[in-house]
Amino acid sequence: MLNTELLELVSSLVCLLHEGKVTFLNQAGVRMLGFHDAEEAAGASFEDFIEADYRFLLEAGWDLLAEEDFLPLKLHRPDGSMFEAEMRVRCMGGSAFLVEARDISKALRSAEALREREERLQGILASVAEGIVTINELGRIESANPAAERMFRCTRGKMAGTHIGDLTPPHLRQRHERFFRRYMTGGNGLLLGRAVETMGRREDGTLFPMEISINELRHGKNRLFTGIMRDISERKEGEDRIKRLAHHDSLTGLPNRNLLSDRITHALARVRRHGGRMAVLYVDLDKFKPVNDTLGHEAGDVVLKEVARRLTGCIRGSDTVARVGGDEFVIVIEEIAKQAEAAAVARKVIDVMAKPIEVGDHQCLLGASVGVAVFPDDGFTMDEVCKAADIAMYRVKRSGRNAYCFFGENGEEEE
Ligand code: GH3
Ligand code: MG
Repeated sequence: MLNTELLELVSSLVCLLHEGKVTFLNQAGVRMLGFHDAEEAAGASFEDFIEADYRFLLEAGWDLLAEEDFLPLKLHRPDGSMFEAEMRVRCMGGSAFLVEARDISKALRSAEALREREERLQGILASVAEGIVTINELGRIESANPAAERMFRCTRGKMAGTHIGDLTPPHLRQRHERFFRRYMTGGNGLLLGRAVETMGRREDGTLFPMEISINELRHGKNRLFTGIMRDISERKEGEDRIKRLAHHDSLTGLPNRNLLSDRITHALARVRRHGGRMAVLYVDLDKFKPVNDTLGHEAGDVVLKEVARRLTGCIRGSDTVARVGGDEFVIVIEEIAKQAEAAAVARKVIDVMAKPIEVGDHQCLLGASVGVAVFPDDGFTMDEVCKAADIAMYRVKRSGRNAYCFFGENGEEEE
């Protein structure tokens, strides 16, 4: 005979049936099914506890059911409420069966809640504009959201499994690996949590500027890292454009006065350190205004652009041509051994300006007046040398234009 006392120690429902009717129900079963006591359930047909949609399970008979493992189904309580359960039947001989059932509604609810949370999280990860990746301790990407895959132009689902080295430009790879190793061996964690600007490498090999912040995520015994990335190409382009505008003349693209003064300062420092000389040429076009007056401002612009191109052709890569005013340009020639070298450039400027400039059907014939000053002969500071070159240029204007003159020549101009 079965000792039913032992069955009271079990936390799941245990019910003994004879020809489908309850002969014993343990206390856990009483509570689960909502009876007052076991007596109340005695004699009831177990089939009545099973929700109608699942009664088909019994159609083949208790014998066949006894061959199955736990089956999911729904059970009824006498008050009409229902719960999700798992049920297993075992034959005890003849038409006696033991039914075991577990209430799995809570487990299902929390699994459902977990799935919903996961879906919500995936939804958020899919909708954010930032690229988000998780990286394991070996530097391998474990997961990547769609924005990260778009940013690196990776095929959907292909980013997970790649190494962060593959997303790094070759010239930065060693540095990144050094940082990572040092961090993993307990060293420098300064980069964590801070947004840093670096370069990313797309799957097609092209590079782009990005901002990344890395955080550590303890995951049980393992360490994971999250990387939040933003493509900053547009911002960088904007910054570069502003920098260009701040340092270049928008019409000709030549350095403007700001950049010129930087260049002269640096050139002066170099010449002071190494000795030698440096020349500054002030160039003002002759009779430029009439171009504007007769052909219009736009034609004047075309002429200025062509002049810029021609002047650039007169110098070496290490020298500078800047536009400092309407039709005024400055040329800085670094490291001249003797004045003759500056004279040669001045001569070249006058020669290139002697050729007519075509604007539509018109040929504009201009000229240039060039004043030349030399450091350290004509001044010790940038201002002094530039002023000297300007004075020399006015001297040329006064004495008939289309020529060059050295400040040190004291009024005698050359042609
Ligand atoms: P000079 O021989 O004495 O140098 O006389 P100029 O006719 O060359 O005239 P000046 O150097 O005194 O003046 C330069 C003119 O350049 C004045 C202005 O109308 C014109 N200008 C200044 N900036 C621009 C510009 O960006 N585009 C055009 N088209 N003209 C400009
Ligand atoms: Mg002029």
